[in-house]
Amino acid sequence: MNIILFGPPGAGKGTQAEYIIHHFGIAHLSTGNMFREAIHNKTPLGIKVKTILDSGELVSDEIVVGLVKEETSKSVYNNGCVFDGFPRTVSQAQSFDRMLAEKNTPIDALISLVVPEEELIKRILSRGQGRPDDTKKGIKNRLSVYQNETEPVLNYYKKKGLVKIIDGTGSVESIFNRIKKAL
Ligand code: ADP
Repeated sequence: MNIILFGPPGAGKGTQAEYIIHHFGIAHLSTGNMFREAIHNKTPLGIKVKTILDSGELVSDEIVVGLVKEETSKSVYNNGCVFDGFPRTVSQAQSFDRMLAEKNTPIDALISLVVPEEELIKRILSRGQGRPDDTKKGIKNRLSVYQNETEPVLNYYKKKGLVKIIDGTGSVESIFNRIKKAL
């Protein structure tokens, strides 16, 4: 099973991804986590993307798609995967489709977590992970990048009939129950 977890920063994608992967026994691919790990390890990729992540802008489609392609060729993804933070632009979604068609492993559903903006900002500021992009300015920028570049991805998948809209407010367990029902 292949699932896309979709939603603005602070929507709870990472938290719900953990529940989904344990429940369905599938892998987790978070492009944000991969970039943060590369930055932490000061790899050439990490050095290249650090200022982009700090500012809340998007890493280029070429880099992201190349990274996902390489990562998903590993056998841990053979059983399926939760894609968290990818695809984030329509161009990434188109490349992703070509990638999945080659491997004959289609997307089963896109879970769109819906949370009001005030709640998103509150959550990010209080999660205290010390991420350099979790400042008020960083969050505002990520939200506007989300609206301009990422939200159109939703329509792309709506046309394919794959979108499940999920209320992302309430307890972590109640949100997960909604996801389970939708799947
Ligand atoms: P959040 O959802 O809180 O913004 P993520 O961990 O998903 O956090 O992403 C953090 C940052 O990593 C993004 O602001 C962006 O700079 C970069 N990034 C992650 N995924 C992508 C992607 N698919 N395309 C471009 N940039 C990405």
